[in-house]
Amino acid sequence: MPNMSRPRPICARSAALPLLLVWQLAWQAPVRAEDCPRAGTLGTSRVLSVDAEHFPRVGLKSFPQTLPLRDHEVVLTFDDGPWPPTTPKVLKALAQECVRATFFLIGKPASEHPDLVRRIAAEGHTVGHHTWLHRSLKQIPPGETTEEIDHGISAVEMALHGQATTTPSTPFFRFPGSPQQELKLLIKRLTVARKGIILLHDPKAHTAAMLPAFLRWLRENDYHIVHLVPTADPVSADGH
Ligand SMILES: [Zn+2]
Repeated sequence: MPNMSRPRPICARSAALPLLLVWQLAWQAPVRAEDCPRAGTLGTSRVLSVDAEHFPRVGLKSFPQTLPLRDHEVVLTFDDGPWPPTTPKVLKALAQECVRATFFLIGKPASEHPDLVRRIAAEGHTVGHHTWLHRSLKQIPPGETTEEIDHGISAVEMALHGQATTTPSTPFFRFPGSPQQELKLLIKRLTVARKGIILLHDPKAHTAAMLPAFLRWLRENDYHIVHLVPTADPVSADGH
């Protein structure tokens, strides 16, 4: 339900604060994911349900490369988190624009910051898997690749649902070792391609810092955000 003008509560103590600070607190009140959709934001234009059977968790493709995206449609994905200094900034920028994304989480930091993993899911984003330690699967002994993948899945599942299972609750998996893209390059490529899966890294301070500007650019250039969910995910069933 649109909610454009809900008054932000300011605690009683803040009355004693200098006027300017009170004004700043009120002006910068956090925008929450549950306040979406909201007028004037980029928003999430549609949910794309991806059938896990066509995209097994460990396949030749690290992620569906040929999603049925229309002109000016993009999917936002974030790799290598969660990372406490930067992931909350990324979540804030996404909430600010009412945008939903997919986070490919590394097992070890997920196990160390389960609250952040649960927050990502609670704010409506899709969680995918990105191995345990982010070792290149091409460079480690074949006998260790299964462990690297399964341990990663298990750690993220434990953080999300309190269960150390190697059966992922979401089937999205991405191989580690993907290239970093700078904002300028990103915009340049997007201007040519006009649609696609955007790969970003939430642990990068630079990414967290540029994200609000990038989302604004998408909004001003009439791009639409598509949110990926697994077919069986209850999120897709209730229309969100
Ligand atoms: Zn990665």
